[in-house]
Amino acid sequence: MLSKEFPGGILVLTGANSATGLRSMPARYIFLDEVDAYPASADEEGDPVTLAEARTTTFSHRRKVFMVSTPTIRGLSRIEREFEASDKRRYFVPCPHCGAMQWLQFDRLRWDKGRPDTAAYHCEGCEKPIAEHHKTQMLERGEWRATAVSADPHSIGFHISALYSPLGWKSWQQIAREWLAAQGSEEMLRVARNTLLGETWVESGDAPEWQRLAERREAYGGTQVPVGGLFLTAGVDVQKDRIEVDVWAWGRGLESWLVDHIVIAGGPDDPACWDKLTALLGRTWACANGAVMLIGKLAIDTGYEAPAVYAWARKQGFDQVAPIKGLEGFNRATPVSGPTFVDATIGGKRLRRGARLWSVATATFKTETYRFLRLERPSDEDRALGVLDAPGTVHLPDWIDTEWLKQLVAEQLVTVRNKRGYAHPEWQKMRERNEALDARVYARAAAWIMGADRWDEATWRRLEAQAGVETRLAPPVTTTEPAPPTQPKAGTPTTPRRKRRAYTPNFMRD
Ligand SMILES: [Zn+2]
Repeated sequence: MLSKEFPGGILVLTGANSATGLRSMPARYIFLDEVDAYPASADEEGDPVTLAEARTTTFSHRRKVFMVSTPTIRGLSRIEREFEASDKRRYFVPCPHCGAMQWLQFDRLRWDKGRPDTAAYHCEGCEKPIAEHHKTQMLERGEWRATAVSADPHSIGFHISALYSPLGWKSWQQIAREWLAAQGSEEMLRVARNTLLGETWVESGDAPEWQRLAERREAYGGTQVPVGGLFLTAGVDVQKDRIEVDVWAWGRGLESWLVDHIVIAGGPDDPACWDKLTALLGRTWACANGAVMLIGKLAIDTGYEAPAVYAWARKQGFDQVAPIKGLEGFNRATPVSGPTFVDATIGGKRLRRGARLWSVATATFKTETYRFLRLERPSDEDRALGVLDAPGTVHLPDWIDTEWLKQLVAEQLVTVRNKRGYAHPEWQKMRERNEALDARVYARAAAWIMGADRWDEATWRRLEAQAGVETRLAPPVTTTEPAPPTQPKAGTPTTPRRKRRAYTPNFMRD
């Protein structure tokens, strides 16, 4: 199924996650599809694009490598990096009125306020509106033109957006409509930018101010799991003299609540310290309805004292515990990879491949966390009308102190130039202590490892049933119209069916 012979050659298909497949044979032509969706590493053997490209070396100047992709996030996007290094060809089309050759740009698509049906393209030469029906002829008379000189004359790049969609695919009106529909949601705007315009999304790296977070702290009952929290993860930061544990509850759309903050004094050398951490694995947190929850997955950093962490994790079992290693850099298509098997030393005995280790691209989750922290909250008025918090909203309890808040916003995304002059985004500490941010990133990684980013509706409903939470409906599209009277109030807990029963959802098992 994965190879087709034809007169003059053979076509071999392989996955970007398979190092063996990518290494299998020399190839003169390589077509890499959707490169922005590739994992950072194929079977831990390195960048899949580099692995694939190495197949062509024996063909030297007769080889061809063709990469195609919808772009994703600025700084993470492979295709954007490739395009930037190319001669950046754009498709130039003539204006039907004045003949000026131009490439189509989104800001020249204009419509009357709130009237996407009036959308027309405005010529950059004569400023006259161009109607949709001219498009077919414009495309026929167009041509690719380079807009830059590439450092490597053999590298050519092409960019095309939905503005060029032929008749019957996607009209300019439709693009205007989809763009309007995406307003107000950062996530939908990102998708629109990526898929309609073929442009990368620029993540904002400004840390929210801790004072603003302090004002937003909420009273949700001590260390109780709030309504809407459907499972718990813990992020554990190991320091020389203490172990810090943050327990987060997660709900639909990765809405999250800080549920507990525990500092265990002592360090990785102190057995009592590990015993206290072990005890947390059996501890339960109460839900509003009387049910109790265990930590679904605890992610622990191996950066400071890896052997001690491996030994402890092996003893607990990898169902509930995930040792993790933070990876620097933004150039990763998947935020978590692994697990890989690493050696562990138990009681002085070395066990080959005795422990598991997950690699976490911390930059990705830091960016996400700050984006989530910046989300607008519904006003009390909107709330009364049934408007829910946006997916991703981060809730902080009233008992958390300002030092913790300052740690959470301790970093900033800055643009750094390397020795060769290439600019890339990088997270940098603005103050010495940042454990709260690290622990949050680990807890988020734990949610990813559990699969929360890929669960289907049935899984969320099962979790809601287990937590005794009514299914939360999507927020109404507008915030000005009252919700229909039949809509249940957001997140209203139902009568608990069972009381005081600790549960670990069965899909947590690996
Ligand atoms: Zn014109």
